[in-house]
Amino acid sequence: MKLYNSLTRQKEDFKTYEEGKVRMYTCGPTVYHFAHIGNLRSYIMEDVLEKYLVYSGYDVNRVMNITDVGHLSSDADTGEDKMLKGAKREKKTVMEIAKFYTDAFFADCDKLNIKIPNTVQPATGCIPEFIEMVEGLIEKDFAYIAGGNVYFDTSKLKEYYVFNNHDAEDLAVGVREGVEEDTNKRNKTDFVLWFTKSKFDDQELKWDSPWGIGYPGWHIECSAISMKYLGDRLDLHCGGIDNAFPHHTNEIAQSEAYIGHPWCTHWFHVLHLNTSGGKMSKSKGEFLTVSLLEEKGYNPIVYRFFCLQSHYRKSLVFSWDSLDNAAQAYDKLIKKISTFEKEGEVDMAVVEEYRAKFNEVMGNDLNTSLGITAIYDVVKAKTNGATKRFLLDDYDRVLSLDLLKAADSVKEEKEETNEEDAYILEMIAKRAEAKKAKNYAEADRIRNELAAKGITLKDSSQGTTYTKA
Ligand SMILES: [Zn+2]
Repeated sequence: MKLYNSLTRQKEDFKTYEEGKVRMYTCGPTVYHFAHIGNLRSYIMEDVLEKYLVYSGYDVNRVMNITDVGHLSSDADTGEDKMLKGAKREKKTVMEIAKFYTDAFFADCDKLNIKIPNTVQPATGCIPEFIEMVEGLIEKDFAYIAGGNVYFDTSKLKEYYVFNNHDAEDLAVGVREGVEEDTNKRNKTDFVLWFTKSKFDDQELKWDSPWGIGYPGWHIECSAISMKYLGDRLDLHCGGIDNAFPHHTNEIAQSEAYIGHPWCTHWFHVLHLNTSGGKMSKSKGEFLTVSLLEEKGYNPIVYRFFCLQSHYRKSLVFSWDSLDNAAQAYDKLIKKISTFEKEGEVDMAVVEEYRAKFNEVMGNDLNTSLGITAIYDVVKAKTNGATKRFLLDDYDRVLSLDLLKAADSVKEEKEETNEEDAYILEMIAKRAEAKKAKNYAEADRIRNELAAKGITLKDSSQGTTYTKA
């Protein structure tokens, strides 16, 4: 397949180190709060990418971290500790907060049909690996100790700004104005590998290290966790675009300094979900979560459908109106699919023809919007229901929109309704006969029997009609 690579800034043929095998790494959530639907857009698109690679015949081994320590609110080394902030807000311990929001994250993923990666590793479970890597970086003279902390020295690199064509907003995150400057740093872009001098006196999670009791910086966890499970050659690294700098930039810096050769070939970044007010965040505007969508009566899969309607490399604007449009389109599509006959022989020539079209668009930088169009093409195709259902099921291995499952439950509902209606009409006819025979007791009995089931009869000169409760 062809996939845009943020590192080379062009669409490339996707290649792996080992034939047929993909070593894929994803930056997981910082579990101090619920994920907002903007965070989840990235996980949805990464899920589609993973499933498309599997669909194309690759064996994918995917690893994700869970950040439960070390992530400060600026994404660089300043601001508040996110986990500590969450714990204080909810008057719980950091580990309680981590457990609660990790579970909440996977519950959201489940509702959105996002597959859980093969390995999920909380950062707090890999402290010895982080220490080993920091020691290695000091040995290789890529790191220094200052004021009790260990810093990565970015001046030792040939190139630091590897993603430097990304928009200025992203580049600015790490060097934002107004945040206190760390005077221990030799260069403005240096970053902390290990903290012992924390400005948080009440830091709950601390470990012993060669540099004193402390805790790891945020960036080191992804490099160390990915190497632990996937080795020192990575094929594909994913994340939201706001991770490109400083997080991914720093991951590359420390990983390549440590192993001494190129690390990850392919970088996949999903653009932001915006609201009319700008980039979505947890702190401004409505806090948009999957639970909120459900409270408002939306099927979470409709949100997935909404995300798939646009390309991952474009920012997407969310509004309730646009979600309503997606919901209507999805319901209409499902109703249409529910009319397809299951019986009949699958026409494999048609299947191959349409599969090729699906591959053409999905294999071209994961064009999910045209992937959705491909669903409509199948719906309109001149072939039998069984072939259409076969194809929709096939596409859904990648898109995961519950196409047949939802259609079958619509069909079942319809059949149940039809059965019930037939029963009521039969009872109405019996009652009319009883009335004709002047058996009013029987006619009343039938009326009462229906009333007990919530069905109200109404007689008029045109005959008897009914309403259901
Ligand atoms: Zn990461």
